Amino acid sequence: MKIVADLHTHTIASGHAYSTISEVVMGAKNKGLELVALTEHGPQLPGAPHAYYFGNMRVLPSEIAGVKVLKGVEANIIDDEGNLDLPVRYLKKLDLVLAGLHDECLEPDNCELNTKALINTMKNPYVDVIVHSGNPRYPADYEKLVQAAVEYNVAIEINNSSLTFSRKGSLDNCREIAKLAGRLGAVVSLGSDAHWADHVGEFTQALQLVEEGKIPAERVLNTSVDRIQEYLRERKSKLKKRK
Ligand SMILES: [Zn+2]
Ligand SMILES: [Zn+2]
Repeated sequence: MKIVADLHTHTIASGHAYSTISEVVMGAKNKGLELVALTEHGPQLPGAPHAYYFGNMRVLPSEIAGVKVLKGVEANIIDDEGNLDLPVRYLKKLDLVLAGLHDECLEPDNCELNTKALINTMKNPYVDVIVHSGNPRYPADYEKLVQAAVEYNVAIEINNSSLTFSRKGSLDNCREIAKLAGRLGAVVSLGSDAHWADHVGEFTQALQLVEEGKIPAERVLNTSVDRIQEYLRERKSKLKKRK
């Protein structure tokens, strides 16, 4: 499966990542990618940028060194109602909104409440992708989760870093999520979750799960820039209709 985009990366702005935007973009270019999403952690994670950072991302070009750049965030889920740590007035200006659970922002709870938090987050029309939901710190009902992702047309991430550097013990959960995504027809987003430029575009382990889950290329956003743009356009047009 040919991958042309990385939809989850961090720069020094996140406070615990080690490359600049230029370096991350060059990392994407070196891997032959056509698009990279800059998705710093939301303001409640220690060391992450304040909300104003996200409001000012408009000054960045939408293409750098021939690589298309999406301005995004990895927002933190802060309660089991699915509220995020970045106000809607910022979310609505961004190209891509990822959302996920992090210990520092919401203590892990039981399976029922973790699932509730994730599904309520999917109901937020500004959230485009739910990230690293296979984290064993937050047990969840993956069948319910993937069903909800299909119902609300939110992409489920397969996070390569969960299978290498981070969130030890994620593999079996992520494999189950990938199989459910394949069976139930969910849209999948691949993220390197790179915190270092050389890791941008690293998808070896995630692609293995895509294959095991029999997820077709048409449902993997990262296989085409058009597919990403169409997915985001469709979600934004639904937002306009709600108003
Ligand atoms: Zn991080
Ligand atoms: Zn994360």
